[in-house]
Amino acid sequence: MSYDVIVLGAGLAGLSAARDLADAGSDVLVVEARDRVGGRVEQATLDDGRVVQLGGELTGSFQYAYLGLAEELGLTIESSYVEATGQDSYHLIEGVVRGDWMNPGQRALADEVEAKFRDLAATVDPEDPWSHPDAAILDNTSLANWLRSAGGDEAVVRDRALFHLGLADGSPERLSLLAELRKQAAAGAGGFYDENAWEGLRVAEGSASVALRMAEQLGDRVRLGAIVERVSVNPGGCTVTLAGGETLAAAAVVSAMPVGPLRDIEITGVSKPRLESLARQRSAVASKVVAAYPSAIWEQVGANGLAYGEGLIGSSWTQAPTGVISVLTGPERIGVLLAAPDDQSACADVARDLAEIFGDGMLSPQQIFYRAWGIDPWSKGYITQWRVGDVMRVGPLHGTHEPPFYVCGSDQWVCGYMEGAVRTGRAAAAAALGRPAPEPVQ
Ligand SMILES: Cc1cc2nc3c(=O)[nH]c(=O)nc-3n(C[C@H](O)[C@H](O)[C@H](O)COP(=O)(O)OP(=O)(O)OC[C@H]3O[C@@H](n4cnc5c(N)ncnc54)[C@H](O)[C@@H]3O)c2cc1C
Repeated sequence: MSYDVIVLGAGLAGLSAARDLADAGSDVLVVEARDRVGGRVEQATLDDGRVVQLGGELTGSFQYAYLGLAEELGLTIESSYVEATGQDSYHLIEGVVRGDWMNPGQRALADEVEAKFRDLAATVDPEDPWSHPDAAILDNTSLANWLRSAGGDEAVVRDRALFHLGLADGSPERLSLLAELRKQAAAGAGGFYDENAWEGLRVAEGSASVALRMAEQLGDRVRLGAIVERVSVNPGGCTVTLAGGETLAAAAVVSAMPVGPLRDIEITGVSKPRLESLARQRSAVASKVVAAYPSAIWEQVGANGLAYGEGLIGSSWTQAPTGVISVLTGPERIGVLLAAPDDQSACADVARDLAEIFGDGMLSPQQIFYRAWGIDPWSKGYITQWRVGDVMRVGPLHGTHEPPFYVCGSDQWVCGYMEGAVRTGRAAAAAALGRPAPEPVQ
């Protein structure tokens, strides 16, 4: 049997693409390696019925493609952890600080440097950062070195390091300035990463519900446990070979796979530059721990659950159900968790750090989950990590198609977020249908 389109991967990107293709009357099949849909969004139900998010979770007001899709699917958008009451926490080498860890003078200098960053971000086109007259220079400069050259002192650099180690997208000492300018330009170039803009909202039913609802609509057009091993692309017809040897045929292929696992697939019939650009991309090796307590015990110390740390925990924040906290550990620190004898020990390591920040009550969660997304064979990462020089190495082929081979996925947007998955997924479907990319409704 031959399909119109085979979509590789049933994450948000692949499902968004397949849904639009199916709605347009295409005969589409999604092949998914795992025994579940959603990819980097996944949810679990606790013994007491609370639903927790183990992967992607948060969105923001400028992320129109994701918000629009959630609305189409009948889901509810609500405010996220940014509304929680209490103080932020900083887990510094020197100890725990509540409230701003910087003194007013340091904060004022940070604000001055941020104003310069905002002005520079406004000069970058997020769709085409390569056209910037200083693209190569900006890409070959680390965010940290630029902060110093813009008058920032070591406290300003440390503040950004706390933030980026919390976001788990790599240290600012190695993060491409151009990539960060591009990312903030996509959010409206308001300054440094603004948690409200990027993370101020969430789907009340749980972010994984977005994937689950699309999969419900697609029904048996999604095939689970189908591991793609080879793809042959031809204007006259493409083939997709699965583990076990089964070969499927289609007029076109949409790759909706993360950049890491895509490297493991043998692809023929696609130009070398296109494949090299895809292979150049890097995804941050990070893990997420989700710990559930009977109540928001961090409130007992006046904290809101949001923490940035210089220990094992990069950041923590609260989820929708009361008493649930998320923890990210990023590329610079995950080695400690990966070297733990087992998952239980890794969870205990994280709980100990949580206890240092919020008190001993954190040592005994009712339930705790550990997902090492960075080494999961079907993800091999978390969000995009743009090291110094990587934007130019990936080049302007980033996110482009080579019909009948179409490319989507969060990594094919400015950074690896759910917005990017939906935006590029729907754009890939439109391209395969010969239509212009949909304009996200604001
Ligand atoms: C811990 C964590 C926290 C995050 N937090 C946020 C957040 O708060 N906000 C936000 O916007 N984003 C967040 N993200 C990122 C966001 O979840 C992802 O960018 C997005 O879900 C990726 O969607 P995708 O469809 O592009 O890729 P994926 O979800 O990775 O989907 C790709 C699919 O391809 C499948 N696949 C891989 N290899 C094969 C193969 N060989 N054959 C067949 N199928 C294959 C995978 O199993 C997967 O289902 C987070 C991610 C993680 C891991």
